[in-house]
Amino acid sequence: MNPARLLLVIPCYNEEAILYTTYAKLNTYYNAIKQQGLIAGDSRICFVNDGSRDKTWNIIEELCSRDPDVIGVALSRNFGHQSAIMAGLEQHMDHFDCFITIDADLQDDLNAITGMIEKHREGAMVVYGVRSDRSSDTWFKRSTAEGFYVLMQKMGVPVIFNHADFRLMDRRVLQELGNFKEINLFLRGVVPLIGFRNEKVFYNRLERQAGETKYPISKMLLFAWNGITSFSTFPMRLVLYFGFFNFLIAMGIVAYILFSFLFGYTVPGWTSTMLPLTFFSGSNMMALGLIGEYIGKIYEEVKGRPRYIIEKTVNEQIL
Ligand code: UDP
Ligand code: MG
Repeated sequence: MNPARLLLVIPCYNEEAILYTTYAKLNTYYNAIKQQGLIAGDSRICFVNDGSRDKTWNIIEELCSRDPDVIGVALSRNFGHQSAIMAGLEQHMDHFDCFITIDADLQDDLNAITGMIEKHREGAMVVYGVRSDRSSDTWFKRSTAEGFYVLMQKMGVPVIFNHADFRLMDRRVLQELGNFKEINLFLRGVVPLIGFRNEKVFYNRLERQAGETKYPISKMLLFAWNGITSFSTFPMRLVLYFGFFNFLIAMGIVAYILFSFLFGYTVPGWTSTMLPLTFFSGSNMMALGLIGEYIGKIYEEVKGRPRYIIEKTVNEQIL
């Protein structure tokens, strides 16, 4: 069996502090597996610049001029991690047999790549990189991230526990992925939906070597919220439960008002008018807010905006 043509896709956002190191490590590893005959000679490494404001693109251009095996793709602005990955993948879909996506900070262990390629050779169409040890993450990052996976699974989103965006995909899987037209693309949820034979490789998550995380707490929460509302209608069902609960309480209050009225204890007063009024208008507002969230999503999708726009590419002609 001929070795597969592999494309490594690395999304980069303000990664000037680490890009040279990443390239050096990646290149050594890449050449080693090429020599071992694990991947084809015309495999490539693709850096996607996701609208960085630092020197990331200059570094990518320099790497491209030094090394013909490096491809550079620059997006016209910051489109976000998931879109940057998709840009690198979709642009080169027809030229490679399999694709591995990995973060620029190399927190995901490169050595897992060999395992991924071997599993692909054995017929796996998707290979998920799963973090078996997160001790290098802070307690906060670890517990919020792991809590997130559990929450997602409980809400019926088919995410793989402790798997982020370090994965191998066969070209066939990528073609199918192209049919998911949503703009709020949450790859961790969509890829398992595609199906096909899949495997896992386990690795220890390392520390970020330089630079800082591009996922501060606000972005992390937004990402989680996006993942949940793109896949699960559970929050809406919660509104239904809450509405039912409200209805029961309302019945109790109605009974109380009727009782007071019939036995002439008191004229229905200020409290019994104001209390339900404020309470129910409040809960109505909450329900409307949640419905609005979903309508907002529909709006986004209906507009059919492009997921990314490529400004320029480097070393593309050699493919
Ligand atoms: N990233 C990106 N666009 C963004 C944010 C992040 O392309 O808007 C890239 C970033 O350069 C890195 C990867 O996504 O390669 C993961 O980001 P990071 O390592 O900061 O996340 P963490 O590991 O802290 O969750
Ligand atoms: Mg990272």
